[in-house]
Amino acid sequence: MQTYRIAAIPADGIGPEVIAAGLQALDALARRDGGFTLDVTEFDWGSDRYKRTGALMPEDGAETLKAFDAIFFGAVGAPDVPDHVTLWGLRLPICQGFDQYANVRPTRILPGIASPLAGVGPGDLDWVIVRENSEGEYSGIGGRAHRGLPEEVGTEVSIFTRTGVTRIMRYAFRLAQSRPRKLLTVVTKSNAQRFGMVMWDEIAAEVSQEFPDVTWDKMLVDAMTVRMVKNPRSLDTIVATNLHADILSDLAGALAGSLGVAPTANIDPERRYPSMFEPIHGSAFDITGKGIANPVATFWTAAQMLEHLGEAAAAIRLMRAVEKVCADGVLTPDVGGNATTQQVTDAVCDAIRGDN
Ligand code: ATP
Ligand code: MG
Repeated sequence: MQTYRIAAIPADGIGPEVIAAGLQALDALARRDGGFTLDVTEFDWGSDRYKRTGALMPEDGAETLKAFDAIFFGAVGAPDVPDHVTLWGLRLPICQGFDQYANVRPTRILPGIASPLAGVGPGDLDWVIVRENSEGEYSGIGGRAHRGLPEEVGTEVSIFTRTGVTRIMRYAFRLAQSRPRKLLTVVTKSNAQRFGMVMWDEIAAEVSQEFPDVTWDKMLVDAMTVRMVKNPRSLDTIVATNLHADILSDLAGALAGSLGVAPTANIDPERRYPSMFEPIHGSAFDITGKGIANPVATFWTAAQMLEHLGEAAAAIRLMRAVEKVCADGVLTPDVGGNATTQQVTDAVCDAIRGDN
């Protein structure tokens, strides 16, 4: 029997509530399947630790994580700790330190959950957005001169490297190839940005030669937002830069009904290091402790984790259970129901146990 070592980092706000839910579902799956077990170690890293000790995680935290097969992450952020402290103190060191350059964000309308788009239901919107997660607009390079003066200048430098673009493009083409429609849309803004974005277009054309069975097209990011709303059926796999995909995936999440159902995986495709799986949403202190956080995004990212670990059948079983529970109307308030986190979790675990 295969045993996977999982590092759970529930962290802040509703993070511990949704990670607890996710671990219950994973436990039900392992028992139901019988082919694998999960050896879970929980870490108390996050904003409370920062307030106690001045650091969100120990200095050798990343080193400790290297021994694990995957990282199951809740949410980080607290009202009384600056955003850049929490982001740079925990999530980014893991993403960057482990070169998790592919950020994969599936979006699909689940049964029982309404899209704000009229006439669009399950099956009409089934996308995976691949976000470049290691360079681009969030390089952190730039500066400000003549601060506060009328002649002040601020620069923000986007860095695109041939290595960085080629590897994300290859990942996206491969993912598109693995999906039934074998369809990829490459998003840039190469009409207005003449260097890095034109390089993206050129590298897309080069890499496409390796995937003759994938149909692909190019979209400018502004036109892409219109297409997502007007013609969601025409899209399948989407690849975009760090900034563009950040924005597009928020739109995608909203079109699928709620932030509470949107998952994400930060993947090192070369498998040199553990990859990290988390819901897209943040710590949501407004609902923390109320027992109403939607655990669906966390179940979904747990399914991504199982798939990455090679347990595809368990991943499918988990998503089938989630879809059944949503279709049955066992929903938290953010998606129009009145169930608690625990009621949704219990229903998902029951569906896992009852699934043949
Ligand atoms: P952070 O600062 O960590 O990003 P946040 O409080 O700014 O967190 P998010 O958690 O990203 O915000 O979400 C915004 C709002 O969406 C929350 O205030 C909450 O009401 C709602 N929300 C987010 N996640 C969930 C969820 N899992 N279940 C229900 N509602 C959610
Ligand atoms: Mg926020």
